[in-house]
Amino acid sequence: MSYLNFIGGEWVPALSGATFENRNPADLTDLIGLFPDGGEADVAAAVETVSNAWPDWAAKGPEARADVLYKAADIISSRIDAIAAELTREEGKTLTEARNETSRIAANFRFYAGEALRLKGESFPMPEGQIALTLRSPVGVVAVITPWNFPLSMAARKIAPALAAGNGVIFKPSEMTPLMGQRLVEVLLDAGLPKGLLALIHGRGPTVGKAITSTPGIDALTFTGSYAVGMQIARALTTDTRCQLEMGGKNATIVLGDADLDRAADIIRRGAFGLTGQACTGTSRVLVARSHYDALVEKLTGAAEGITIGAGTRAGVTMGPLATEAQLDKVNAYLGIAKQEGGRITTGGLPEASAGLSNGFFVRPTVIADVPTDSRLLRDEIFAPVVAVRAIEDVDEAIEIADDTEYGLAVSVVSNDMASVLKIAQKTQHGVVKVNSPTTGVALNAPFGGFKHSSNQSAKEQGGANVMDFYSRIKSVYLGG
Ligand code: NAD
Repeated sequence: MSYLNFIGGEWVPALSGATFENRNPADLTDLIGLFPDGGEADVAAAVETVSNAWPDWAAKGPEARADVLYKAADIISSRIDAIAAELTREEGKTLTEARNETSRIAANFRFYAGEALRLKGESFPMPEGQIALTLRSPVGVVAVITPWNFPLSMAARKIAPALAAGNGVIFKPSEMTPLMGQRLVEVLLDAGLPKGLLALIHGRGPTVGKAITSTPGIDALTFTGSYAVGMQIARALTTDTRCQLEMGGKNATIVLGDADLDRAADIIRRGAFGLTGQACTGTSRVLVARSHYDALVEKLTGAAEGITIGAGTRAGVTMGPLATEAQLDKVNAYLGIAKQEGGRITTGGLPEASAGLSNGFFVRPTVIADVPTDSRLLRDEIFAPVVAVRAIEDVDEAIEIADDTEYGLAVSVVSNDMASVLKIAQKTQHGVVKVNSPTTGVALNAPFGGFKHSSNQSAKEQGGANVMDFYSRIKSVYLGG
C-alpha cells in the first residue's frame, strides 16, 4: 500500500517522488506501506497553503471550531478497534495499550473542543470613558513534530489545541509511525476540517524536520522527542518562532522503608515494563530503602518473569517489541555497559533463539541490581524495559540520586509517610511527582512537562496552566481616551 502527503487540500506524492518503507517491529517481513520521503520543497508548499488557510478558520469563531473537534472525537471513538490494531502493527505496543492510546485521543479532542469555547481575554478598569482589553488571536502556522512512542496522543495533544485556538497546522509525524499520522489526518478531514488548514508531510527528521526549522513562515513549533534533536531544533530556529520542546526523561521510583513490597513491585512493573518501557515517563531507576533492597529485587525479578513477550496482537501477550532497530541496539549497548560496570542482571536480556521472536525487535523485561553510584544506567535515558535498582540510606539520599541526572521528568514515591512524601514532592527537580502510582500515566486535564533537559519549559502541555497561551497571542487594546 502506498500513502501520500496532504498539502493544500490534496493527497500528493513528495515533490522529489522519493518514498520510504515502514515495517511491523514484531515481524519485519510485514510491510506496512510506502510513504513519501518529503523534503524542503514539500515544506515550503505546505507553509504557503496553511498560511493562506488559517485566517478563514480563525474567523469562523469558537463554536464552529469546537464542532469539528467534537466530531473528530466521535469519529475516533467509532474507529477505536481499527486504529488500535494498526497502531499495534506499526509501533508494537499491545492491543490493550493501543486501545488506551486511541481512546485517550478522543478525550483529548473533546477537552480542546471545550477549550476553544473557553478562550477569553480580560478587561481592565480605566478612568471613566475608557477601558483596556486583551484580545486573543491565533499565532498562525503551527508546526507539530512528534515521536513514534505515542504517535497518536503526542500529535493530538498538540494539533487539537492548535486548531482550537484558530491556527493552521503542519504535521510531521515520526518516520517510524507514519500510518498513525495518516489516520489522524483522515479523522480530521472526515470531521469537516477545511482542506488547506492542515498539512501532513511524511519524511525523515534530518530532511523534513530540518526543513521545518529553516523555512520562513512558521510562527510556532511544538516538538516532542529526544533532547539531542530538541537542541538541534532550538539552535536552528529564528527568534521569532515560538518554540515548545518536550524531551527525554530518566525517571525514578523511590521505595521508602514503610512501603508494602508487593504493592511497590506492582507499581514498578507497570511503570517500567508497560509500553515496553518506551514511555517518556517510564520508570528506569528504582531507589529502594536498604532494608528492602534484596526482597524488592527478588519480587521485581519475579514480576518481570511473569510478563509474556510477543506480537502485541497475540492473545496473552503482555509486552510487545521495541519499536525500532536503533532501540534494540541501544538496549544491547546498555546491557554491555551493565556487565562492564559490575551490575547484576537478575533477569532479562535478549530472548532465546528458541522463543521464535527473531523476526522482530524483542527484548525481555530486564532488572539490573547492584549498579555502582556513578553508573550510566542511573543517568542516561535508555527508553526500554530495563530498570536499574539501587539501595538508598534515607529520603535525602533518594532525592539526591533521583535528581542526579540531566533530565527532570517524573518521579514516583511508594510510601504512606506523609512527611517524606512531601519532602520529595517539594524538593525534587522533576516536573511530575506521583505518589503510590507508577511514573507513567498522567491526566489530560492536569499540566504536563519536565524540568532541566526534559523540557525547554516555554509552556506546559495538556490541561490547565498555559497550554492555550502557547497557541494564541494576546493583544492589549485601549478603548476611549
Ligand atoms: P527523536 O528526537 O529522534 O524524533 C522526534 C521527531 O523529531 C521525529 O519526528 C523525527 O523525525 C524528528 N526529527 C529528527 N531530527 C530532526 C531535526 N534535525 N529537525 C527537526 N526534526 C527532527 O525522538 P524519538 O526517537 O522519535 O522519540 C523518543 C524520544 O521522545 C525519547 O527521548 C522520549 O523520552 C521522548 N518523548 C518525550 C515525551 C515528553 O512528553 N517529554 C513524550 C514522548 C517521547
